[in-house]
Amino acid sequence: MIFYGRNSSRLKDGQINNVTCPNCDNNTSMRYAIFGKYAHIYWIPTFPMGKETIVECNTCDKTYKLKELPDSIRQKFEFEKQGANIPVWYFSGAALIVAIIAAIGYSVSKDKENDALYIQDPQVGDVYSLDMDNSSYYSTMKVVEVVGDSVYVVYNNYEINSRVTNEIDKDENYDTEKEGLTKEDLSFYYEEGNIYSVDRD
Ligand SMILES: [Zn+2]
Repeated sequence: MIFYGRNSSRLKDGQINNVTCPNCDNNTSMRYAIFGKYAHIYWIPTFPMGKETIVECNTCDKTYKLKELPDSIRQKFEFEKQGANIPVWYFSGAALIVAIIAAIGYSVSKDKENDALYIQDPQVGDVYSLDMDNSSYYSTMKVVEVVGDSVYVVYNNYEINSRVTNEIDKDENYDTEKEGLTKEDLSFYYEEGNIYSVDRD
């Protein structure tokens, strides 16, 4: 459940002089407040939703929305509206959402970049996530020894039907017998997508 709604803040207030109130007919002054309305998600302002001006007669205290007043008074407001700008913080939520999406995108691409580097320079303890036969089952293998161009790995005895293989990456799940591969083999498997992720502590 996402909490969202509307809220408003006062952008500007002031007074206009020498106007005739449609209610009490006095030549008087009126005070006003211009409110900015915005949508919020979890009370974080996300985007603006227009403005509203409330005007109150200083003689009879009747309040009006600006659009209820005669043209002669509304014209005076063209000047008053200046300075009642939508503040940048009305977009805080939108900026936050963009920042979060960018951060996720960055960490995903950084992760891929690291994988490509790790595969070229295997180290003991590296865990490869495997999709060897393009089935919907996944497993892992772990590097236990690197000698020159040879890389010795142990295979996981378990499979899982999720690409997130952390759950089965436990010491006791690995076979005791190691098998030899070359660095070239690893690069080939990585390019083919058989190795699709490298975890290094
Ligand atoms: Zn009045």
